[in-house]
Amino acid sequence: MRAAIYLRQSEDRLDDRRAIARQLADCEALAERAGCTVVGTYVDNDKSASSGKPRPEWDRMLESLGRNEFGVLICWHTDRLYRRLRDLVDLVELAETRSLRILAVNAGDIDLTSPAGRMLAGMLGSAARYEVEQKSVRQRAANRQRAERGISIWTRRPFGFDRDGHDVRIVPAEAKEIRDAAKKVLAGHTLASITRDLNGRGVRTTLGHPWTVTALRRVLTNPRVAGRIVYNGEAYGDAPWKPIVQPAEFDRLTAMLRDPKRRLTNDTRLKHWLSGALICEADESRMYATIAWTRTGTKYHVYQCKKCKRTRKLADVDALVEGVILGRIESEDVASLLGVKPDVMELQAEVDELRSRRDGLAALLADGLLSPDAVREQAQKLGHRIDVLERSISRALGDSPVADLADAPDVRAAWSELGAKQRRAVAETLVEIRILAAGKGTRFDPGTVRIEWKA
Ligand SMILES: [Zn+2]
Repeated sequence: MRAAIYLRQSEDRLDDRRAIARQLADCEALAERAGCTVVGTYVDNDKSASSGKPRPEWDRMLESLGRNEFGVLICWHTDRLYRRLRDLVDLVELAETRSLRILAVNAGDIDLTSPAGRMLAGMLGSAARYEVEQKSVRQRAANRQRAERGISIWTRRPFGFDRDGHDVRIVPAEAKEIRDAAKKVLAGHTLASITRDLNGRGVRTTLGHPWTVTALRRVLTNPRVAGRIVYNGEAYGDAPWKPIVQPAEFDRLTAMLRDPKRRLTNDTRLKHWLSGALICEADESRMYATIAWTRTGTKYHVYQCKKCKRTRKLADVDALVEGVILGRIESEDVASLLGVKPDVMELQAEVDELRSRRDGLAALLADGLLSPDAVREQAQKLGHRIDVLERSISRALGDSPVADLADAPDVRAAWSELGAKQRRAVAETLVEIRILAAGKGTRFDPGTVRIEWKA
């Protein structure tokens, strides 16, 4: 009887090559014991059968089988024969019209011409598949170990970092941007303003995209910037690299940024909510709160233009703008200002899931379970979906301080509880206010305050 030997090594390591030589000898011995003449030997090198990569020798072997050049297929172990059920299907289809016997050095022989043999082969195929899955479990465990040792496992280079081989190094120019942004957040700047500044200066993400509030928040809240290793939410201690942001600073930063209502935290330095938000219509300069005195020596607050010194009584402007804004928020069309508010927690959970799936791609690639092209395609798909979701999240919280207010059962009661910075955020989202020249007389004229809606 004529026989073919098929062997496969999963990795081109020296010891594996030795193993192949041993396996070949075992198979030849088996052929001799079974009284077969070996007419062909097929060895696929360094190709993982489960990755879907081409296996030229496997294909050649099937072609030879198709030409009835042999009736016995000898392998060392059936799991070395077909790691995918697809391979098994190809083999079974060919074998069905022939009388193919499979002899394995390390597993029972399989007669693919009998139903029992095909069932056994199917089970062995599933067993092989199970082993592949176990392998990816082991891969995840290996990732964890790498995380513990401080080795990065990112699929896409994080801003501020790069690697030399397995060693993570800091990219100084990007680290400086991170540090500056962190300082600004701690000083009360909004992520939106920092994002605008980055984009204005042409600073790009590691993918070459303009910054978004969400992307910036993600960079600033990642423990790696504080020199900490966290993998799947678990802390693994200090990283081998130096912190870009000092850990104490980082903790304050994340406390601020992770709070969805962070725009609604009080900033004691801002006493008057429209200070710096008003624009003097005469010269487009900002107007700030300051103190003035009546002729009789009574102190009161005014908003004053930095340039031309135009002033308007603070209490009057505040009351007017407040009335206009709350009137709008209470009205129904505020929903159109904000868009539909999705369930943020649900969106975030989905983003986390997609993100961990994307991280998992690196492991599948490393393990040869996916080809680089397949990984790229999957990563792009996942990345696109993540971007879409994050924009929704951004709209739902980070970028619309009005949302919480609009959601409150009693808008005015909610407003009365807001501090100056919170009110300011609401005003800046909704309106642009210009102070026109005052008419004659001392009476406040609401017509001299021009309120324009941003949306
Ligand atoms: Zn002015």
